Amino acid sequence: HATDVSILGLGAMGTALAEALVKAGVRTTVWNRSAGKAEALVARGATGAGSAAEAVQASPLVVVCLFDHASVHEVLDPLVDDLAGRTLVNLTTTKPEQARQSAVWAAEARIAYLEGGIMAVPSMIGQPGASILYSGSEDVFRQHTALFDHWAASTYYGEDAGLASLYDFALLSAMYVMFAGFMQGAAMLAPEGVPASRFAEMAAPWLTAMTGELAGYAKVIDGGDYTVPGQQSLTFSNLGLFLEAIAEQGVSAEPLAMVQRLIRQQVDAGHGTEGFARIIESLKAPASE
Ligand code: NDP
Repeated sequence: HATDVSILGLGAMGTALAEALVKAGVRTTVWNRSAGKAEALVARGATGAGSAAEAVQASPLVVVCLFDHASVHEVLDPLVDDLAGRTLVNLTTTKPEQARQSAVWAAEARIAYLEGGIMAVPSMIGQPGASILYSGSEDVFRQHTALFDHWAASTYYGEDAGLASLYDFALLSAMYVMFAGFMQGAAMLAPEGVPASRFAEMAAPWLTAMTGELAGYAKVIDGGDYTVPGQQSLTFSNLGLFLEAIAEQGVSAEPLAMVQRLIRQQVDAGHGTEGFARIIESLKAPASE
């Protein structure tokens, strides 16, 4: 039969992860710090553990989905002897450096360690569109891929345990800047009484179409030559007129002003005739404040 699994942490996400395993018929033991969160899962076939130690001892595969790096170690540090010889999958959001620290900690305690970054909200777990990025022990990933696939599409990024988190944060960083861009546009239209919902209807297809540009930018960046023909130049990308128009609407231009600063840095360094993709150089070599 499939590997037994213990899940520590029954917040919104841990509960969704446990539910998906129970539904798939995996023998699942669950534990949560505060009482009451295991009951619904136990009613559906999970086994409730009275303590974190009991949960760890119940299964060869231990999954943690707690609040943060500190809470993971608050729960697991006292249990290193129980964890030795077992496999630990950490789906708690942590920084790459924290994931690497946990990997070193696990290796010293003879715990096989895999880190995961969840690209989904709890309601998406077990549904198409959810994805989990993994890094750390490749053996653990290969051995349990079928089990992980009950949660989401599973992809492995390498032995460096920090990589899952780094990819996760890179994707979320891109998303947040895009969302701030949407807010910029919505704020510009608000003084005219245009509802954000109206702008959302326009912005969604526009931004979706514009993602078609990403591969082209990536090709220029990876080629390392920002002078290749067919690109919009940095000088042409001057956003001064936009910034004036936003100020005239009486709203903040902060998201767009950030982009303008990245452009300016390259223009001031004499690269105005080169392509817009060159603003990545402003990020790789930040201007000193
Ligand atoms: P919740 O706030 O719903 O749950 C947090 C969980 O952590 C609870 O089970 C809580 O226990 C437990 N916890 C917190 N501190 C401690 C501690 N010191 N000792 C023991 N247990 C502790 O968060 P989520 O379930 O939403 O998120 C869990 C992880 O999943 C986070 O790292 C989050 O970033 C990540 N994640 C969440 C996503 C989401 O959309 N929700 C998306 C992607 C990743 P108690 O019930 O006792 O408070």
